[in-house]
Amino acid sequence: MSRAPILDRLKILADAAKYDASCASSGTAKRNSTKGGIGSTEGMGICHAYAPDGRCISLLKILLTNHCIFDCHYCINRKSSNVRRARFTPQEVADLTLSFYRRNYIEGLFLSSGIIKSSDHTMEQIVEAARILREEHDFRGYIHLKTIPEADPEIIHRAGFYADRVSINVELPTDAGLTRLAPDKNARQIEGALGKTSSDILEAKDAKKRFKHAPRFAPAGQSTQMIVGADAASDADIVGRASRLYGDFGLRRVYYSAFSPIPDASAVLPLKRPPLIREHRLYQSDWLMRFYDYRPQEIMQATEADGNLPLDIDPKLAWALKFRERFPVDVNRASREDLLRVPGLGVKAVHRILASRRHRTLRLDDVARLTVSLTKVCPFICTVDWRPTLLTDRADLRTLLAPKTEQLELFAA
Ligand code: SF4
Repeated sequence: MSRAPILDRLKILADAAKYDASCASSGTAKRNSTKGGIGSTEGMGICHAYAPDGRCISLLKILLTNHCIFDCHYCINRKSSNVRRARFTPQEVADLTLSFYRRNYIEGLFLSSGIIKSSDHTMEQIVEAARILREEHDFRGYIHLKTIPEADPEIIHRAGFYADRVSINVELPTDAGLTRLAPDKNARQIEGALGKTSSDILEAKDAKKRFKHAPRFAPAGQSTQMIVGADAASDADIVGRASRLYGDFGLRRVYYSAFSPIPDASAVLPLKRPPLIREHRLYQSDWLMRFYDYRPQEIMQATEADGNLPLDIDPKLAWALKFRERFPVDVNRASREDLLRVPGLGVKAVHRILASRRHRTLRLDDVARLTVSLTKVCPFICTVDWRPTLLTDRADLRTLLAPKTEQLELFAA
């Protein structure tokens, strides 16, 4: 069978891959090619995307194929979808990666795939593309491989030896949602694959401590992705699931991807996508759990009656407004934990407050230098020269602090 030109296939398979959000390259091992090989995980290149962790990365993000024998309702590549199909060979994926790398367009590869023939066959092809890059070309750039939980664990295991990061999508926040919207997938199989990869990563880390030449295994860990808004799961459900995934499988990241309606969508899907800001609020809550020591229950306390986080204010402010009795906190005496709960104070600002107050008593001006919005901080702190008095308890505090919605100008430059 004749194949479409490679550029046509690249257009199809790069476009088909855009629905996957889980491709940040944070946390990988440092490798460079100054003593041989090609590629680097740290070098400078043309950056095309910002990962949710704020790092600028450029990856060639493609599918091996958008043919698929599964029929997940939310997916544009599902068996019953009427889209143009294409397929690369593992050699073509490797060649494309190298040629883009040499032109300095990318820093690495994010490779995912629809399922062709069988999960094992597809997983073999994904691993083969990475093997060609690493073994035949000594490619030292970043590789993120999406693994298929239904595939033989031994093949998934091999992926970990070539990839910096592996990911397995849990797809939907609840098992009921998965059964309804991805009937070919199995929640137990997905969690089994996450658990196995998690213990393989730990074992490899342990071996590396004991034996200098022990092989690397997914040094940037594993991540997953959940689709938001395709089923009835609330933000409280999503936060609860994310926190269990972090705890049970030591995930580096959980990515949240707002469901986007697809052409010829199945009748079981909502007609409208959820507001993008909902995805943003989930990333903020994820950040609070990972860096601000918020417990998932605290994030859930910040949700509204429908279990969703407010859209007009961030989850940290929402929590503080609900628990005003915890404020104001004294910047000169409060614990790190209490300071981290002050809206408008970031981790760095708290660190600097703790360091500075060892030497002197802090005034409001000192805090002003550490924050971008003193207005947001003021109702929740006191310093030697500032007390918010009645401000913390004002009924209209939420309105005062909510970011003003801007009227965008048509035809603005
Ligand atoms: S397995 Fe499901 S989500 Fe993955 S490509 Fe196939 S239809 Fe899409």
